[in-house]
Amino acid sequence: MAKYIFITGGVVSSLGKGIATASIGKLLEARGLKVTVIKCDPYINVDPGTMSPYQHGEVYVTTDGAETDLDLGHYERFTNAELGRDNNITTGKVYHSVISKERKGEYLGNTVQVIPHITDEIKSGIRKVAEGKKLDVVLVEIGGTVGDIEGLPFLEAIRQFSIEEGRDNVLFIHLTLIPYIKSAGEMKTKPTQHSVGKLREIGIQPDILLCRAERPLSKEAREKIALFCNVRKETVIQALDVDTVYEVPLIFGKQGLDKVIVKRLGLRSRKGDLTEWKNRVVKRLKHPHYHVKIAVVGKYITLQDAYKSIYEALIHGGIANNARVEILRLDSEKVSREETRELLREVSGILVPGGFGYRGIEGKIRAVKYARENGIPFFGICLGMQTAIIEFARNVCGFEGANSTEFSRKTKYPVISLLEEQKKVKHKGASMRLGAYRCRIKSGTKASAAYKRKEVTERHRHRYEFNNAYKDTMKKSGLVFSGIHPTGSLVEIVELKDHPWFVACQFHPEFQSKPDNAHPLFKHFIKAALAAQ
Ligand code: GLN
Repeated sequence: MAKYIFITGGVVSSLGKGIATASIGKLLEARGLKVTVIKCDPYINVDPGTMSPYQHGEVYVTTDGAETDLDLGHYERFTNAELGRDNNITTGKVYHSVISKERKGEYLGNTVQVIPHITDEIKSGIRKVAEGKKLDVVLVEIGGTVGDIEGLPFLEAIRQFSIEEGRDNVLFIHLTLIPYIKSAGEMKTKPTQHSVGKLREIGIQPDILLCRAERPLSKEAREKIALFCNVRKETVIQALDVDTVYEVPLIFGKQGLDKVIVKRLGLRSRKGDLTEWKNRVVKRLKHPHYHVKIAVVGKYITLQDAYKSIYEALIHGGIANNARVEILRLDSEKVSREETRELLREVSGILVPGGFGYRGIEGKIRAVKYARENGIPFFGICLGMQTAIIEFARNVCGFEGANSTEFSRKTKYPVISLLEEQKKVKHKGASMRLGAYRCRIKSGTKASAAYKRKEVTERHRHRYEFNNAYKDTMKKSGLVFSGIHPTGSLVEIVELKDHPWFVACQFHPEFQSKPDNAHPLFKHFIKAALAAQ
């Protein structure tokens, strides 16, 4: 029977609950335990797929084609857990299911209510993930901050859960903030006391407190927190700011967090060993031999999280090449004709990420052109591949005004267009080409040199595709089609022959990259960028 750990957050948001949860998963795996991780999101959207990056940051796509919260990206990067659509439970999904059941008559005779129907649905959603799998621990992160109105049903559900499963099988961890007040020269524990008080009002007594702080907790502060929050001193763990998020499991491990967890849950496991993680990830990240500067030319670069997995995958590519990757975030709307060279002069590689809508497209196309003409390693991802095709069509094939029908319905050269099945789509939610699809790799290409495999599986999130009507002409002009979806002949990877490294793919390789196992395309992109210096 699996044990459950619930992670809540208090005082303020953005304390790094996702990273903390992923790090606990990593620590438990290092003890040989099998874990999975669930994210509960209290918003009413069924999934974040319909939200703008300004609202939500990156939408992370799982193998089974679910559009999920970006925290699932952290979980997959830190642990070996394979996540799918059931690992992200939203208020929208819960209500959708309850209301559908009500319409079918499944609650016939009953008034359908938040308690017990919504809370039951949340609990069964959590249990469903563990069903039929041999798991030791299920970690469940509750999104938002304790005190939020919309989070209440989730908190009530996990309280009930701890009673039903038995208090010895469930652990509550609360991530909180201990601010330092400069003028008083003191660390303040009151917000944490209030936050834990709020949890206790609901009936949840946290077992462990993770305290985010700028400065180390004094002995007194730790004792005070323990006394007033009703926890043992050794379960007050400090979470100081770190240079890299991949260090967090080490910091928690040093304070014995995993030991406390396995003891409290009665889990039998070996001693945790993070030596490999420390040597292969953290040390290399902190003391790299080389340095490389890469431009990411996108529309949402002012947002911290919009290209989260891309930034991480670039860092992983750096780790694999013993290099620190410095990322220059360039707003594609600012890449104007005259300034392109000026803006991109210093970088050794250019990456154009995914995106939607026309804004910023022409800047991306100019960045592609600059990379192609100047032999700068280039990596295009999803919309990045589509802009690379448009650029090639316009400037190499001479198709003036070539475009994607996403941006110009009447273009004379629709080199990127909708598949018939996408033309029929009326609803926006979960209706793109989503999730894992196979891709056959052409031998003798850069893609094949990177993957060293004949076939791979990669995750997708897009509506538009390369228009195969232009394949022969483009081939003749020198574009290499190095990755094709075996059924349906969809173009998945294109590249240039006479260029140091110019590769663009329709899928999102960044979702499969890990710090200790960089995605092959990111690894080779960084390698090419280092060689180009
Ligand atoms: N807007 C493009 C499409 O829908 C690209 C999507 C993306 O980059 N994720 O096909």
